[in-house]
Amino acid sequence: RYYLEKIARAGHLNAFLEVYETEALERAAALDARIRNGEQLGPLAGVIVGNKDVICYKGHKVSAASRILEGFTSLYSATAIERLLAADAIIIGNLNCDEFAMGSTNENSAFGPVLNAEDTTRVPGGSSGGSAVAVQAGLCQVSLGSDTGGSVRQPADFCGIVGLKPTYGRISRHGLIAYASSFDQIGIFGRNIADVAAVLQVIAGPDDYDSTAAQQEVPDFQFRPSHNKSYKLAYLKDALHHEGLDTEMRGAFTSFFEELEAAGHSVTAADFAYLDYVVPAYYVLTTAEASSNLSRYDGVKYGHRTGQQDLDLAEFYKKSRSEGFGKEVKRRILLGTFVLSAGYYDAYYTKAQQVRRLVVDKLSEILSAYDAILMPTVPSTAFKIGEKTSDPIAMYLADIYTVLANLAGVPAISVPLRRHSNGMPFGVQIITRQFDEVNLLSVADHVM
Ligand code: GLN
Repeated sequence: RYYLEKIARAGHLNAFLEVYETEALERAAALDARIRNGEQLGPLAGVIVGNKDVICYKGHKVSAASRILEGFTSLYSATAIERLLAADAIIIGNLNCDEFAMGSTNENSAFGPVLNAEDTTRVPGGSSGGSAVAVQAGLCQVSLGSDTGGSVRQPADFCGIVGLKPTYGRISRHGLIAYASSFDQIGIFGRNIADVAAVLQVIAGPDDYDSTAAQQEVPDFQFRPSHNKSYKLAYLKDALHHEGLDTEMRGAFTSFFEELEAAGHSVTAADFAYLDYVVPAYYVLTTAEASSNLSRYDGVKYGHRTGQQDLDLAEFYKKSRSEGFGKEVKRRILLGTFVLSAGYYDAYYTKAQQVRRLVVDKLSEILSAYDAILMPTVPSTAFKIGEKTSDPIAMYLADIYTVLANLAGVPAISVPLRRHSNGMPFGVQIITRQFDEVNLLSVADHVM
């Protein structure tokens, strides 16, 4: 009831698309009855979870914040949702986001923008903006998002909370609406590391329904602070000195690295010469994958269908898709089909695959020498609403620090670091080797 009341008072933030009020109260009552019966409850008993509108929950609407999925109801639940329910968590509603998780500001939603609760003239970040704001404003304890190129870490940074993108494959993608399948990963928002670790513990692990879900055993993430440990850390020189980084933030990172050294850690500058290529490679590969993934929305099998009669099949597809998809999604489908087209495939798609390989190799070389890499999550604090909407390239370039972890499939987390003189929070991003979330969480704890 506490959370339902808070949600009711926070309607202006536009974070929730639907609130499962009756269901949540019924589940809470059922848990209460089981406690009275002396039953042992699951590890997340009574934890209030918000769910991004790209993750299926059986019997509930899911639309990826798109008109093309208008009226569609999930036929099954995502593995992550099944596991949360089995752990006795309470899913309180589904959360607004950018259409098909494409965006960095939550301004691409068919349901309107989400507002940053710290400053409602600013965006919360995207694409999981609703998931970030729901935790930021205390409308739920933790939430699920998806992170293809930063969509959990970037809004966590803009909203002053914790956002984790695990290793690619650590959490099953079964029931996650696909954007770019070789990048997509479910992520977790929370107010602290322990909450995020507790959720990861429950939802991580192999899954027969997703062949890309990793077979690796799930270690114990339950969080033990280890404050006397000293870490061998690196920062990417090219990231810290990048011209796009806000100068005040650059100063804050420099003094933060000095503080870490004073506290007994080593912080070494590492070279990473490919930074300027990560955004182009990311947008070539993800739009290519998206154009293929989104071809299933044809007006026949799911959601929106044009009302116009007497069209031949091709015209019917075109009309339904033109009506159903928003501008950014259309832009990416066009870009994706272009880079995959016969004449351009090698020049763009193959080239981007090669860049991805270079990035993976270089990053793992650095990670083999250090416990973790530290860098900014985003080059600036939260944008003003509308500030970047007319310039998609400027918007894409702001993803420079987050797409790296998705290109390489490594785990990364954003934790709040400082407050800018403009009043907004910003975070530090930590990256470790694949499947080393244990180390990631404990380094994160040191800096929080
Ligand atoms: N901003 C990036 C994009 O628009 C990241 C999105 C995401 O991680 N889902 O593609």
